Amino acid sequence: MLETKELQAWYGASHILHGISIAVERGAIVALVGRNGAGKTTTIRSIMGLMPKTSGEIRFDGVDLTALRAHDRFNLGLAYVPEERRIVPGLTVRENLQLGLVASRAGIDERVAIDEIAESFPRLKERLGQEAVTMSGGEQQMLAIARAMIAKPKMILLDEPSEGIMPVLVEEMGVLFRRLRDQGVTLLLVEQNVEWALRLADRAVIIDQGEVVHESSADVLLADKAMQERYCAV
Ligand code: ATP
Repeated sequence: MLETKELQAWYGASHILHGISIAVERGAIVALVGRNGAGKTTTIRSIMGLMPKTSGEIRFDGVDLTALRAHDRFNLGLAYVPEERRIVPGLTVRENLQLGLVASRAGIDERVAIDEIAESFPRLKERLGQEAVTMSGGEQQMLAIARAMIAKPKMILLDEPSEGIMPVLVEEMGVLFRRLRDQGVTLLLVEQNVEWALRLADRAVIIDQGEVVHESSADVLLADKAMQERYCAV
């Protein structure tokens, strides 16, 4: 579904990624882990087309993304849930969900899509008319994920979705991610909550100082505490 080859990225003169090559199979959950500042966010921003300068190759569902802008990547079915969530103040939950369709060219019926999303997210269903930023952090994170799902992407890039969220909602999120995978949606999950991510994921990739230093099934990394300690300790 997604393949990067020798992906490099820069912020100005700072060379952040030094040749990231990863492959994500269709319908898989891949956990992308590593310590703070390793380059995880930069990797997903590069895949999404949001970095000022990159080189290398990115293929998504058979299409070369390299020359495409972020909104064209989105319209090919690639969605992104950034760490900072970007819930819009002054708008209700419903209106924030509607924003997820504004740039979509998929011809999705908004009312049907919101009804469907509400069924998947009972917490949001009860709060469609509520101002979104008055919800808890966890509920806002669910909204950010729901807003990404509403345009029916083939793949979602998630940046630390469990951060700062109470355990019961993290568990709910895990159930949701498994369900998405069962529906054939591919997930690339950047996480500091390594154990949780590895229990969910099929494959695991560790990034350190802008390079891939480990790749295996998630189970293998889950059992390898020394490797986790070496590269993922916060
Ligand atoms: P974290 O978990 O802390 O977010 P990360 O693995 O996602 O870590 P990145 O956010 O990709 O790491 O950061 C990689 C490097 O890029 C860091 O050295 C960081 O300081 C640098 N960096 C990130 N954003 C910028 C920016 N806007 N301008 C300059 N350098 C940046």
